Amino acid sequence: MLGTELRTRRFVRRLVPLRCSFCGRSEAEVDKLVRGGLAFICDECIAACARIVDESGPGPKGEGPGAG
Ligand SMILES: [Zn+2]
Repeated sequence: MLGTELRTRRFVRRLVPLRCSFCGRSEAEVDKLVRGGLAFICDECIAACARIVDESGPGPKGEGPGAG
């Protein structure tokens, strides 16, 4: 039903714009905003996280800076 959809859309719209919990950019400033529980993350932060995970991924453990 079209009426129901319009109602739902109105209900979903919030007074406070959704923001990325990491960089603080609003929904309108990013391409995508992914919800994870109570937090949100934008596509750029996801890419940044993926890079960090990739860098610290498979490799020797305990040899990072600060170890010792
Ligand atoms: Zn972000």
